[in-house]
Amino acid sequence: MDKITRSAEPAWLAEKWQEWGEDLQAKYAEAGKASGFIWHQYNNQGYKTLVEALSAMTVRHCSFCDAFPMGSSIPNTIEHFKPKSIYPLFAYKWDNLFLCCGICQRKGDKFDEMLLKPDSDSYSFDDYFDIHWDTGELIPNRDASHEAQASALLTIELYQLNKNGKPSDRKRELTHYQLMKNSDSSMSLNIDEFSFRFYLTRGVS
Ligand SMILES: [Zn+2]
Repeated sequence: MDKITRSAEPAWLAEKWQEWGEDLQAKYAEAGKASGFIWHQYNNQGYKTLVEALSAMTVRHCSFCDAFPMGSSIPNTIEHFKPKSIYPLFAYKWDNLFLCCGICQRKGDKFDEMLLKPDSDSYSFDDYFDIHWDTGELIPNRDASHEAQASALLTIELYQLNKNGKPSDRKRELTHYQLMKNSDSSMSLNIDEFSFRFYLTRGVS
C-alpha cells in the first residue's frame, strides 16, 4: 500500500456531497440499507469523472494492493473507506473515496478506526509494513509500536493483501521488472507502468 497524495476535491462534489449524504442517510433510515446506492450526476459530472480523478491520483493503480492497470485489465471500482452502509453521510465525501480493485473491494462493510488510510498525513509504508521476501507477503514492521503493528495487521487482513495469490503476484512482478531493467541499461523503465510499486522499489537490485 503506497502513500497517496490526495488531489483537490472536485468542485461539483464539494458542492453536493453533504446533501447527497444526508439524502442517503434518510433513505437508509426509512427503507433500509438494501434500498440501494447510486452515484449521482451533477453539472454533467458523475461516476465517470470521479473515477478519472481518483485514477489520476494513483496513476491507475489500486489504492490498496497497487495492482495495475486499473480500468483496462482490472475493472475500476470505487471503495468507500468508511463503508456507506455504516457512514452514509460520507458516501460521497471526496476523502472517503479510493480507486480500488475487485479483490481489495471484498473488504465490504468491515471497518475499524485502526485501519490504515493510504492518504493519511501520518501514513508511510515503512512506518507500518515490512516485506517477507521469501514469500512475497506483507508483514507488520517489527520495530513499530504495538499499536502500529496492530493497524498494519488489520489492514493486511481486511484488504486481503496476502490472499488471492497477491504474494506470488508480487514476486512475479519483481522478477519481470528486474529482467526488463537488466535487459537494457539505457532503457528508462517507468515504474508507474508496473503493479506493486512499493514491492518493486524495495526489492530491485
Ligand atoms: Zn487492490
